[in-house]
Parts: sequence; structure tokens; C-alpha cells
Amino acid sequence: MKKAIVIGSGFGGLAIACRLRHYNFDVTLIEKQENLGGRARSLSHNGFIYDAGPTVITAPYLIQELFSMHNKNWNEYFKLLKVKPYYRFIFSDNSHFDYGDNILQMVRQIKSNYSEKDARGYIKLLKLSKRIFKTAYTELSDKPFESIQSMIPYLPELMRIKFYKSVHSSVSSHIENENLIKALSMHPLLIGGNPYTTTSIYLLIQYLEWKWGVFYAKGGTRAIVAGLEKLLNEIGVKCVKNTEVISLIKSKNTVTGVDTENGVIDADLIVSNADPTMFYKKVIKKKPKKLSNKPLLLKHSMSLFVLYFSTSKIYNNVQHHTIIFNKRHKELLDDIFDRRVKIIDPSLYLHRPLATDPDNQQMNSDSFYVLAPVANNLSSIDWNAYGEEFSNVVFNILDENILPGVKENLVDHFYVTPDYFENDLNTFAGSGFGIQPIFRQSAYFRYSNKSKEYDNLYFVGASTHPGAGVPGVISTAKTTEKLILRDYDIH
Ligand SMILES: Cc1cc2nc3c(=O)[nH]c(=O)nc-3n(C[C@H](O)[C@H](O)[C@H](O)COP(=O)(O)OP(=O)(O)OC[C@H]3O[C@@H](n4cnc5c(N)ncnc54)[C@H](O)[C@@H]3O)c2cc1C
Repeated sequence: MKKAIVIGSGFGGLAIACRLRHYNFDVTLIEKQENLGGRARSLSHNGFIYDAGPTVITAPYLIQELFSMHNKNWNEYFKLLKVKPYYRFIFSDNSHFDYGDNILQMVRQIKSNYSEKDARGYIKLLKLSKRIFKTAYTELSDKPFESIQSMIPYLPELMRIKFYKSVHSSVSSHIENENLIKALSMHPLLIGGNPYTTTSIYLLIQYLEWKWGVFYAKGGTRAIVAGLEKLLNEIGVKCVKNTEVISLIKSKNTVTGVDTENGVIDADLIVSNADPTMFYKKVIKKKPKKLSNKPLLLKHSMSLFVLYFSTSKIYNNVQHHTIIFNKRHKELLDDIFDRRVKIIDPSLYLHRPLATDPDNQQMNSDSFYVLAPVANNLSSIDWNAYGEEFSNVVFNILDENILPGVKENLVDHFYVTPDYFENDLNTFAGSGFGIQPIFRQSAYFRYSNKSKEYDNLYFVGASTHPGAGVPGVISTAKTTEKLILRDYDIH
């Protein structure tokens, strides 16, 4: 049995651990934190438990596959609940728009709230999204791109779907209403991209949401992570928590193990789920050989300020996922992504699990998190000094727009800043999602799923192909699995 080490327990790490075990590798998963999940771990505070990160579960079959490949029924490990509507958008003119889960209803809503022309435009946009999905998701999401030539066969179709346009520009060429454009071009933000620069390939997320639906796990995303941890235990994967990998043990072009805070562990192959920019810098202690992966050339995603809180008041009319758009849009995104300055008027995403999962009430309270995209730590913002003030800004926006009296009703709250992503999760500059989903950082140009430096070092996770988001990182494990099976001659 070959020994495999997986470094990091994000969804990408959990998925590759399951997959390698299926092929009879002796797998050890090493995680720096005290619990598994990476960005999807849970955080406890004053007796409340919060999902730290992902709550929108799409393409659930990708998680379910991990159970079925071990002849287990995923349904016995966690349950999925349908989210309806997928999102509520609130605009600065106080109007709102409910998105999902019925296409006909959506088209009717666009016609009555906006215009017939926009309703027709939306149908065309969805058709485009489906076409992009067919190429970019169905054909390419688990295909390893090891050379620039491997992208050539796909170029004609990529040209036809106008990959060189941004998501915002593609949406704007179908839709006239400014509010609707903001709403329909927001998906890149869910994976760390600026809608104005993210390649239109990522329009595929719209179709992906419609195809399989949007779900939430009963008991929270932490129930999925707990289900995967149970599965790993049952199939014999060793999970070592509270242990940071400090360096790789190398012999010429081969890695033979890892050095951790708690000693050395040997391996025949290693898969890193850690943020690659940080991993090269701190653990491999080398610059990547591949030109497109040189840190200076890379654009890392924005970061996030996430405020977790519970209230004694139950806000029954608040939907599960609400996105509150600020009046400033492009300028705000420029401040966050390019100018990297402090903002005082964030757009917000509010998560209220009780809306979908009423059985999950904690201590007779309503629990939430609200996140604001903010500049990553390449800015000069001192979050120790600014955090408290910014949390007040966020609470005030919530109070005015959606949760009246929120501050008076608080029973618990705390927040994390870009420093959490940088220091606790080892991500470069505290980026929330790894490298940005722009074309020059996609497919071959993303971090390789196999190292160019060592024969038996592989990568999974948000900055590798195909990219961030729960379905994205689980697909990175499928891509990497293909390379490992090829290299180890396993059929
Ligand atoms: C607040 C937030 C909300 C989100 N919401 C959604 C959503 O609703 N839907 C969605 O699909 N996506 C969402 N995303 C994106 C999604 O969560 C991520 O893309 C995905 O979970 C990242 O998984 P990953 O495999 O890249 O690993 P990560 O989650 O980045 O985990 C990497 C792990 O490696 C560990 N590690 C790093 N270095 C070392 C080391 N040297 N030794 C040991 N361990 C190490 C880290 O501690 C971490 O646990 C969200 C992200 C955030 C931050």
C-alpha cells in the first residue's frame, strides 16, 4: 500500500483523501486547525456554533459521489434542504428581487419589475450560461491542463462563448436595468472574482444553480464536514488535527515526507490542499517553476470581513441568503480589488440558516453571519484598529435595511478579518478564495494540480484547476486523482 499524505482539510483535501483511499492508498490527512473543513469549518462562541464559510451548496452530487464510491449512502451521514428563494437581492432604492427557485416565476418577475425586453434578455443569458456550462463544466472541470497546448482544442468554442468578455459585460449585453445587472453578475464574488474582470466562463454558475438547485445542509455545512469526517474514519483515513506541516522532506526530485510541529511523517506521495502561494513560500520554500504561477504575476482574490451573531429576536421575514447592494458598485469593487483601501459603505451578504432549517435553532435565538468583501492584506488596513468600527458600520447597514433593532437584540457576536484567513488558514494576504478567476489564471494558467518541481507532489483546492467554491474544489480533487492514477499506473 502506497502512503499518501494530504495536507489540509478543506473540501478539496477531504475529497482527495476519500478518493485516494478508494484506490487503496494508506492516507493520512494533516490539518493545522483543531477541526476539519478549512474555510468550511465551524466556529464556536459563547455556546453558539456557526458555519464559518460556505452555506450555498450546489452540485451536491459531487459530495454524494465521495460516499457512493465507498458503497455508503450519503443520506445516512447528512441531509440536504432546498433553499427557496436562492437569494434575495436588496438594492439601494429599497426595491428587492427574489432569485430562484422557479425559472418561469423569475421571468415573470423580471417582466413585471423591470421590462419585457429584460425578461427576453434573461432567457438569452440563461441559454448562453447553459452553453458555457456544457463546455467549461462538463468537458473541462475535471480535465488536467498540464501544458499550454492542452488548451488549444478548446479555443474555438471558448472564442464562440466570448471568454474574453467579463461576466459584467456579458450580462450587460443582455440586460438593461442596472439593478438587475448587479444581481445577475454577482456570482464571481462567490468565488473571489470581481464581476468586471472575471472571465464570462464563470457565467456557468448560473446554469449550475438551476440544473441541480441550491441546498443547505440540515444542521449546517458543518453537518457535511462531520459526515465526511465520519466516512474518513470508517474507511481508515487517519486524521491528524492541530498539526501544521512546516516543511517537506525531499530527496532530489522526490518528496519523501513532511516535517510537522509534532514530528516527521513519511510518504510516497503528497497532496497539498493548502493555499499554494503560501505553501510555496513557507513550506516548499521555493518560487514556483511555472511562469504563470510566480507570486508577483498572480492576482489574489479579495478578502472578507465576517461578522457572526445571534439575536434574541427572531427575524421571521428574513430570507436565508440576502445580498444588500450598496449604491456604489464598480467604484466600490475597484476600492476593494484594485485600490485596496478602507471602505465605509460595504455591500453585504447575510446568511440566516433558520429560514431553511427551523429545527436548528440555538438557545431560542436567531443566528446569522454577514460578510462584507474587503481588500486583502496587500492593503495597509490595520484590522486590529479598524475591526470594531467596521463591525458597527455593518450592524448599522443591517439595522437600516433588514434587521431593525439588531444591536439591542444581540446575545452573541464576534468577527473575523483578513488576518484570520492569513494567519489561521495560511492564505496569502488573507485572500478569501485563493487566486482570482480571471482568464490568465484559469485552466493551464492556474496553479498546476501537479507540481513542476517534484515528481510526487500534487495540489488540490481553490487556487488549482478548476477553482474555488465547494463544487470547484471538489472537482480539483477529481482532476488531481486523474494525474495520480496515471502516474501510479492504476486503472
Ligand atoms: C466566508 C466564506 C463563504 C463562502 N461561501 C461559499 C458558499 O456559500 N458556497 C460555495 O460553494 N463556496 C463558498 N465559499 C468558498 C469555499 O468555501 C471555498 O472555495 C472552499 O471551501 C475552499 O476549499 P479548499 O479545498 O480550497 O480548502 P480550504 O478551505 O482553503 O482549506 C485549506 C486547509 O489547509 C489547512 N492548512 C494550510 N496550510 C497548512 C499546513 N502547512 N499544515 C496543515 N494544514 C494546513 C488550513 O488550515 C485549511 O484548513 C465561501 C468562502 C468563504 C471564506
